[in-house]
Amino acid sequence: MKYFIITGASKGLGEGIALELLDENHTLLCIARGSSEKLRQLAAAKNCRVRFFNYDLSDHTGINPLMDNIFKQIQGEQSEGIYLVNNAGTVKPVARVEDYDAEAVKTHLHLNLLAPMLLSAAFIRLTKDVSCTKRILNISSGAAQNPYYGWGCYCTGKAGVDMFGRCISEEQQGEPNPVETMGVAPGIIDTDMQTAIRSTDERAFIHKQKFVDLKESGQLIAPAIAGKKLAKLLLSDLFKDGTITDIRDTY
Ligand code: NDP
Repeated sequence: MKYFIITGASKGLGEGIALELLDENHTLLCIARGSSEKLRQLAAAKNCRVRFFNYDLSDHTGINPLMDNIFKQIQGEQSEGIYLVNNAGTVKPVARVEDYDAEAVKTHLHLNLLAPMLLSAAFIRLTKDVSCTKRILNISSGAAQNPYYGWGCYCTGKAGVDMFGRCISEEQQGEPNPVETMGVAPGIIDTDMQTAIRSTDERAFIHKQKFVDLKESGQLIAPAIAGKKLAKLLLSDLFKDGTITDIRDTY
């Protein structure tokens, strides 16, 4: 049995990854505030065990108990692999820095940066004595490498997650049962996040028209296609510990 803990699997890219992982030898443990009826139905049809843990990941206080609870579903010694996909995220707030609302910045960084850090920490702790394949996939973005006007929070959070993954890799070198980590930018995908980007105020995000044009010219990638590539990468030899890549450079 392989176990996949996937954040933000209720819709968008996370749902796309989860749909691709449906298999009777897999157990999907999904974290989001909502859930996906489509995923539940297809899981039943494919005899795959899927469980949703409804949780707001911008609240760091319950992350350790949540992971303790999730790991009750995992039989470590009998598992072939245990995987964590840090996918949940938001682009908001989109604003020039001097216009920041402190609470909104805090909520953003708790969801986009602190939650992946604490989930990864719990994952490493709870799998310490398990010798199967253990991998953390962080969903990154071109925004981790390139500054964008109005995206100070988003760029900072994504850059932070990339660096955190590399720090984990550094610590895991030489461990008897190391956890591997990789950060992957998934391309520009047709999800609610893109809808949010297209509905931002142009004064706060001066590149908005570029994203409107990408949508109108049909250049956004379907979540199912991006999900398929990421799921394939997660299970393949192309998963390179300690690295950050763009899925478009891999497949
Ligand atoms: P969506 O807005 O479509 O989905 C976001 C997911 O995150 C949902 O499942 C949502 O579930 C979950 N989520 C949001 N807030 C919370 C919260 N507070 N607690 C728990 N779960 C939460 O976005 P995408 O699918 O586009 O984004 C997925 C990832 O891909 C993100 O990390 C994003 O940065 C990254 N990405 C996306 C790109 C794109 O073009 N779309 C490009 C590059 C990277 P729910 O609302 O049910 O809680």
